[in-house]
Amino acid sequence: MHELSIAQGLVEIATAEATRLGATHVHAVYLAVGRLSGVEAGALEFSYDLVTDGTLLAGSRLVIEDVPIAIQCAPCDTVRELPGVNRFRCPVCDTPSADIRRGRELDLTRLELDEPDDVAPSLGSSFFVSSTDPLS
Ligand SMILES: [Zn+2]
Repeated sequence: MHELSIAQGLVEIATAEATRLGATHVHAVYLAVGRLSGVEAGALEFSYDLVTDGTLLAGSRLVIEDVPIAIQCAPCDTVRELPGVNRFRCPVCDTPSADIRRGRELDLTRLELDEPDDVAPSLGSSFFVSSTDPLS
């Protein structure tokens, strides 16, 4: 199960970071999930509960932040957010674009810890997610 291995990776990174910061418990883990990441939020939450059992993250919340797809539109010279995942065209001028700027994320963005107070480490950690290129 794809989400289970993602959850395990997430727990490893969060545990390492929490330990490094001297935390005794993790309250919440914030994860940015792009709509092209291929991750199913419900399955990930279920897996998260399983793999956090008995770890520093036991009982913590997994907060999934939905990241819409955004493309760079050349004629508009701006980044446009797309309403769906099936149509890679500028919603304003209808020009096709393969220049995807957001939507592939699977990033641990924030941890809520016991100690010290509410740190927001910039982890810069991304998981590799195999997803088929929607344009190929
Ligand atoms: Zn446009």
